[in-house]
Amino acid sequence: MLVDSYDRVVDYLRVSVTERCNFRCTYCMPEKPFSWVPKENLLTFEELFEFMKVAIDEGVKKIRITGGEPLLREGLDKFIKMIYDYEPSIDLAMTTNAYLLKGVAQKLKDAGLKRINVSIDTLIPSIAKDIAGKDVLKNVLAGVEEALAVGLKVKANMVPMKGVNASEIMDILEYCKKRNISVRFIEYMENAYAAKEIQGLKSPELLEILKQKYQFSDDGFDGSSPSHYYTMKDGYRFGIIEPYEDDFCKKCNRIRLTAEGNLIPCLYFDEALSIAESIKKGDIKAAALVLKEVVRTKPEKNRWGGEDGEVSSRAFYETGG
Ligand code: SAM
Ligand code: SF4
Repeated sequence: MLVDSYDRVVDYLRVSVTERCNFRCTYCMPEKPFSWVPKENLLTFEELFEFMKVAIDEGVKKIRITGGEPLLREGLDKFIKMIYDYEPSIDLAMTTNAYLLKGVAQKLKDAGLKRINVSIDTLIPSIAKDIAGKDVLKNVLAGVEEALAVGLKVKANMVPMKGVNASEIMDILEYCKKRNISVRFIEYMENAYAAKEIQGLKSPELLEILKQKYQFSDDGFDGSSPSHYYTMKDGYRFGIIEPYEDDFCKKCNRIRLTAEGNLIPCLYFDEALSIAESIKKGDIKAAALVLKEVVRTKPEKNRWGGEDGEVSSRAFYETGG
């Protein structure tokens, strides 16, 4: 079992299989980065899998594939199948923008994928274009419908932004509710790469808007999920992710692996240790030691909302959010 210095059990690994993306979301990657990680520096799926085995053997129970946009990487179904065949009980999930999902959802499910989280920030084509930098909405929604049709469990992520998509909070909730998709509203997290003008909505503002139309109870937190959950009278549940709250990191159970093999203890900070060399050499013991050291050095909490006005210099498209 992996336990950090604050007695938190770490059993969740998020794996970014590429930092590249076909979208340019204003809150994540408004500009193409000056340079991408060269392809030869990326770990192959076989190498990533070698590390997945180490992590699973050390106690990881949930793996989420993310990016950049994970569906840009060829052979993803084979990677999913490798993990599934090694440990079928792993909670195997993926976060995607869904643009390329139609046509591959069945293949991913057959390979062992259980759940997906899709970013749905708007239901208006022109706003989707403003947020993602191109005309994406039709493909995204087609991807969602197909994922549901093949029986993948689907959750939605929305980052509400003032003057952009905040007026659609209720429409997105309704869209999701109709399809029994649980939506999570994510407070915009400031970072050095995002567009400067973005103003996110904080949890109290979101709740104020939702209360105008709905009645719901406050369920608090569920296990180690980062979502603060609320349940409506008819049983529909939605969540708010509140990284600016003081107790947000109290139950954090996750670490992150980048596509080039950097293992990151916290989404906010730059600190990381590489497992690339040990995995490439086939030195499993060394990789396990790096894993334990990264868990040991997990910071107590992030610094979003800190008084010094510092901004995270970690790119979401590198860590996978
Ligand atoms: N491309 C995939 C997608 O968009 O779902 C996966 C990677 S993306 C980095 C993962 C999640 O991070 C998405 O739900 C996205 O909304 C969220 N995200 C990215 N930048 C963010 C920011 N500045 N604040 C809050 N959430 C952010
Ligand atoms: Fe790409 Fe996801 Fe970042 Fe948007 S949030 S730019 S889809 S990685």
